[in-house]
Amino acid sequence: MKKIIIAIDGPAGSGKTTTAKQTAKRLSYIYIDTGAMYRAVTYAWLGSGLPMDEKAVASLMSRINLEIVHTDAGQKTLLNGKDISEEIRLPEVTASVSEISAFGCVRDKLVEQQRNIGKSGGVVCEGRDIGTVVFPNAELKIYLVASIESRAQRRTLELSQKGLDFSVDEIKKQIAARDKFDSSRTHSPLRKAKDAVEIDTSGLSIEQQTEKVVELARSII
Ligand code: C5P
Repeated sequence: MKKIIIAIDGPAGSGKTTTAKQTAKRLSYIYIDTGAMYRAVTYAWLGSGLPMDEKAVASLMSRINLEIVHTDAGQKTLLNGKDISEEIRLPEVTASVSEISAFGCVRDKLVEQQRNIGKSGGVVCEGRDIGTVVFPNAELKIYLVASIESRAQRRTLELSQKGLDFSVDEIKKQIAARDKFDSSRTHSPLRKAKDAVEIDTSGLSIEQQTEKVVELARSII
């Protein structure tokens, strides 16, 4: 069977991570969460005491070693050999990740790394610029959307399961701000690729949204 590249893009909380993980499992593919890589750089920046400017962030990029490891339990993110998979989900990381990921020096390095991981195919890669920049030749491109209300509800629930309590309104504001920043930046803004299939996940269960992607993949492989 052909091993294709499946690109899944979309705004925060649209269901990318769950759909990408489940699809990868069903097809026995590798799952690549590119947001985790931008989050890891942000975590490194938070601990560095450096200012938020391109020169400082470029110097940080030349000093850090970021590794993505695929295990049965999913993707692990290592910074200079230390597993920071939990820490990158902290609210302070989320609050600064859009600013960090707007820098060209960060994107150039991470996109190169993502292309290396996915170059042999058999991957489900999720992010904001996968179908447009990282893998413009991906055989299947999906663009997930969902109403701001359902995206905020999902995120609030996810956070509360980790013991972090926020109101839906607060999360709605954060998500809207992140979407605006991610869509209006100069480098690789969040955009639907022309040849991407759009799926609205607002009223869908995880199983239903995964089934749609797997069906589309099976029609190609
Ligand atoms: O997907 P997640 O919410 O973890 O992504 C965190 C942030 O990383 C996004 O808001 C965006 O700023 C950045 N990102 C990006 N390009 C990607 C993946 C994530 O700019 N391919």
